[in-house]
Amino acid sequence: MGARSGAAYLDGLHDNRQVWIDGDRVADVTSDSRLGRGVRSIAALYDLQLDPRRVDRMTYASPTSGERVGLSHIQPRSVDDLIRRRNMVKVWAEWSAGMLGRSPDFLNTLVMGCAANAHYFAGNKAEFGQNIQRYYELVRENDLCLTHTLVAPQVNRSVHPDAQAGGEVALRVVDETDTGLVFTGARILATLAPASDELFVAPAPSRSYSGVGNPHAFAFAIPVATPGLRMICRESFDIGRTSFDHPLGSRFEEMDCTAVFDRVLVPWERVFLYGDQEYCAALFRATNTFTHSIHQFLTKNWAKAEFVLGVASLMAEAIGIAERLHVQRLLGEILQACLTLRAFIRAAEADAVCGPGDVWAPDFETLVTARSYFPEVYPRLVEILQILGSSGLANIPSLASVESPALMADIEMFFQGATIGGKERIRLFRLAWDIACSSFGGRQVLYERYFAGDFYRNVAAHYVNHNKEPYRRLVQDFLNREPSSLLD
Ligand SMILES: Cc1cc2nc3c(=O)[nH]c(=O)nc-3n(C[C@H](O)[C@H](O)[C@H](O)COP(=O)(O)OP(=O)(O)OC[C@H]3O[C@@H](n4cnc5c(N)ncnc54)[C@H](O)[C@@H]3O)c2cc1C
Repeated sequence: MGARSGAAYLDGLHDNRQVWIDGDRVADVTSDSRLGRGVRSIAALYDLQLDPRRVDRMTYASPTSGERVGLSHIQPRSVDDLIRRRNMVKVWAEWSAGMLGRSPDFLNTLVMGCAANAHYFAGNKAEFGQNIQRYYELVRENDLCLTHTLVAPQVNRSVHPDAQAGGEVALRVVDETDTGLVFTGARILATLAPASDELFVAPAPSRSYSGVGNPHAFAFAIPVATPGLRMICRESFDIGRTSFDHPLGSRFEEMDCTAVFDRVLVPWERVFLYGDQEYCAALFRATNTFTHSIHQFLTKNWAKAEFVLGVASLMAEAIGIAERLHVQRLLGEILQACLTLRAFIRAAEADAVCGPGDVWAPDFETLVTARSYFPEVYPRLVEILQILGSSGLANIPSLASVESPALMADIEMFFQGATIGGKERIRLFRLAWDIACSSFGGRQVLYERYFAGDFYRNVAAHYVNHNKEPYRRLVQDFLNREPSSLLD
């Protein structure tokens, strides 16, 4: 099949999936008023990769079928391939202003990273190595869209996931049969699940579950439409408003879901890890699997920061504050965030290494550092929009008012800016509001803080696992040096 069109992708979502929102079981996720526009934005990404002007930049020839397949599936064989992949990711991220955290390239790179480390899965059981390789090829050749879930529901973080609510909460194996494993329990937080073909379930990088033969130690993937699997959505932030009123919420609702498993059968050929908690706990530590998806989402973050910079600088001009020193200082802070992200990405590519299976991966240390940078910086970028926008972010009548004949003169007189008319100023400030103040914007901040795991524990784990010896030796050498030797 190869790289899919938007229409082919939407067609694939007409299955018997169980997606629940506001108490309703959704009949058709592609047309549902709360989900459909977000789903169709994903379809637009698929169309974009086939656009004749972009197809060379967005796809490559499959090594098995020869068909054009999406570049986010590529197993990079050089630094140039990493850069090609990043350029492709940037096109999708710019199209969505960086607001689709879970565009399909995110999990495409992760699954590819797993397949590049197939030996690791084979170490748990020989068949698992083959399973992950075949799964990667299935995803690549059919251009499938994936969601994933790594974490047990919150319930009570002071007890082990196995023990929550008497062991009834966490996803676990309840039966082992000739055909596969049977799962019951729940996982969070499957973003994009209603719009995904497949659900990838893996252990959380930052959490390890103890106990050999643990029923919580597994990795697998199944279709979202698998019997017994239901997705429970939060309320939608697409409330049916125009793209003038909610420029982001009306387009990029990617939805977060709790995945509930009710005796779900996972065939053996879809199992990638099982039964050995050490293999599960170390997956993201002992392999460079995750490195590839950090490379993807850093590129998305870069595009997002650049978009915020564009909005902030237009706002500053629109209300005549762009020449003020403290405003330039704030705008400069956003600019430096953009350039820092670019520097992280380029440094990681420059220091890339050839890993297992001759697949090149960007530098791990650089990317792990960058992963912890954005959760701190993005809330600040949003804060800067609030500081610059001030009342302008609240004084934003809706399109109905803007187009009301009775108000048109008022809109043009009292809502005009220094450089633009009333309607255009409201349009711009509504966009800033959707980044900085709306429920859509609030969820984006939460997403950036947490989507790649608990920021605090990530930074702490990075420090704990990093080799501190060279730095300590520097200090020891300094302390042991005789003062006179400094003059030698
Ligand atoms: C918008 C959004 C989308 C997401 N999408 C996905 C997705 O698609 N797939 C997916 O798998 N996950 C997703 N996540 C979940 C994400 O992986 C988790 O939010 C993240 O791992 C943190 O876990 P938690 O939310 O359960 O927080 P908790 O672990 O419950 O932490 C809550 C607070 O308690 C503190 N805390 C809890 N336990 C400890 C401890 N042992 N030691 C120290 N401090 C502790 C934390 O530091 C934090 O401040 C998403 C999250 C968000 C917010």
